[in-house]
Amino acid sequence: MSTIRLEIVSPQRGEIYSNDINMLIVRSIAGELGILPRHARLLTELIPHAMKVKVEGGEIQIAVGGGFMEVTPELITILANAAELEEAIDVERAKAAYKRASDRIEAYKNAAKDYGEIDIRRAEAALARAKARLTVKGIKVD
Ligand code: ATP
Repeated sequence: MSTIRLEIVSPQRGEIYSNDINMLIVRSIAGELGILPRHARLLTELIPHAMKVKVEGGEIQIAVGGGFMEVTPELITILANAAELEEAIDVERAKAAYKRASDRIEAYKNAAKDYGEIDIRRAEAALARAKARLTVKGIKVD
């Protein structure tokens, strides 16, 4: 089966993943994308989610906290705000982040006064990052 190179880097951890893969399924700001070898050139922004990577003999999931993806016919480069392979994820930390973010969203919703748009967006993004990490760990949330 043909392959395309996938390189994922993050500012804090440097190289997260580098491998020849068969397919990548990601969620971008424009919707879900399936990237196969020889894909057309593309530059897009990713939202926090659990990416699916199809490799010889199986599929793995990688949590991404958002970032940018550049695709050429031979290479996919993801500059992630944060990204973790399953074994790097601390479940208790992700559960705590999930609870903090959902409590915050709940508090904003119940506030009598107008809450800041930026604060709610930040809490929603934190919730999405925590969800992505728990999904990769096989833990259902919602
Ligand atoms: P927290 O509130 O727990 O810090 P966060 O979503 O705000 O979570 P990020 O800003 O996305 O954290 O990531 C900061 C750094 O911490 C990154 O290097 C990221 O890979 C790492 N990180 C965050 N949460 C986890 C986790 N649950 N397990 C392992 N690494 C994590």
